Amino acid sequence: MELTKRQEQILQIVKDEGPITGEKIAEKLNLTRATLRPDLAILTMAGYLDARPRVGYFYAGKTGNQLLAERLRKMKVSDYKARPVVIREASSVYDAITTLFLEDVGTLYVVNEEGLLAGVVSRKDLLRAALGGKRLEDLPVGVIMTRMPNIITVTPEDSLYDAAKKLIDYEVDSLPVVVEVKEKGPRALEVVGRITKTTITRAFVELGQTDR
Ligand code: ADP
Repeated sequence: MELTKRQEQILQIVKDEGPITGEKIAEKLNLTRATLRPDLAILTMAGYLDARPRVGYFYAGKTGNQLLAERLRKMKVSDYKARPVVIREASSVYDAITTLFLEDVGTLYVVNEEGLLAGVVSRKDLLRAALGGKRLEDLPVGVIMTRMPNIITVTPEDSLYDAAKKLIDYEVDSLPVVVEVKEKGPRALEVVGRITKTTITRAFVELGQTDR
């Protein structure tokens, strides 16, 4: 919540001099107690101030949970994304499997001839194809991938928290980080990174470190 200038002033007074009565705060601001009442009520309800009868107001500060939530939402996809591993739509399933091993990733992003996001292939998509009995050298990944527009993506400006929520809500392991290529239409997306469950786990460990 955004505080007004007067609410900021009240907070500062209480931080410096609390516990302090409503009358004293009003005096310091050259206002009446009645004028201040709504501000004091808001600050108390929002958890910034605590009030005790006959003692007055004192600074309650933010709870640990509030601070953690604020820190979480400040973590941006752009600061945590990993390099995307992409493959052409016309590449074979055989090549996709080889790339998966060489690049040590679980998901490949598939791009069209223009280099724009066309789909996603996961480990299980490739396993399923391998069980299908077709020649994997002749089977294009474009045939077995999950296609646009059904791809769940994030942008560099999104918070890591929103990315984590998408991974859970859509039950996928990986999200392409994309930017729109406006001149090529609304769903023309260039892949600029990847967010995976590993990314989130790494950020989680970072949050738990106390030496920073
Ligand atoms: P796996 O299939 O190896 O368990 P996922 O859980 O990530 O890996 O994939 C499940 C299914 O969802 C697969 O068919 C895959 O093509 C598809 N998929 C993976 N990532 C995405 C995504 N970001 N958006 C849409 N579909 C996806």
